[in-house]
Amino acid sequence: MSKSPFNPDNQHESTSHKVVVALERISEAFRVLLWNEGKVHGLSPIQIQVLIFLKYHSQEKCKVSYLADEFNMTRATISDTVKALLKKKLITKEPEPDDARSFTIHLTTRGASVAEETEQFTREILIAVENMNPESMALLFSGLTDIIHHLNKAGIITVQRMCQTCLYYRKNHMGAEHFCELLNKKLESTELRLDCPEHELISLEQ
Ligand code: SF4
Repeated sequence: MSKSPFNPDNQHESTSHKVVVALERISEAFRVLLWNEGKVHGLSPIQIQVLIFLKYHSQEKCKVSYLADEFNMTRATISDTVKALLKKKLITKEPEPDDARSFTIHLTTRGASVAEETEQFTREILIAVENMNPESMALLFSGLTDIIHHLNKAGIITVQRMCQTCLYYRKNHMGAEHFCELLNKKLESTELRLDCPEHELISLEQ
């Protein structure tokens, strides 16, 4: 059995264990900040996350099935979230022209304004990141994208619209470490995207 990162003795011996514990603390901060924002607006964390997602993503992604994959939740949980947001008049739903059982979800004017207020829940985390020097921030971003990519390949987090899982992404191509064939340009490490609107998923087997 591998050593636990939660054992302080292991942390003293290993930077990787300390990094895991640090990531856990940061995930705790996101959880607390989301709950605090939810208390102000009378919303649950997932209700806030769905509102923010709807604000920035195209119509074909604003469906129960996509949201369930996006947030790694069951369709039943997302359906309950959608029902609650409909009741609060923060969203509306529109049936698909070719399938009356399926629908897309849209923010109402009030929903858009709540999304705009609640998306500020990360402000303290952003302040801490912006206080870093550019080199440390670039290294942090590179390390985090590697971790996210690994978790995606391991099937732990599902939907990722990041360069490393995109059909158009090329590694070590045309003299560049990262290259986008759609944009036909070299991407610096800090230009790699985590949520690209043009992302096309490649199969994980590739
Ligand atoms: S289309 Fe977007 S996600 Fe895909 S490689 Fe280009 S920039 Fe990255």
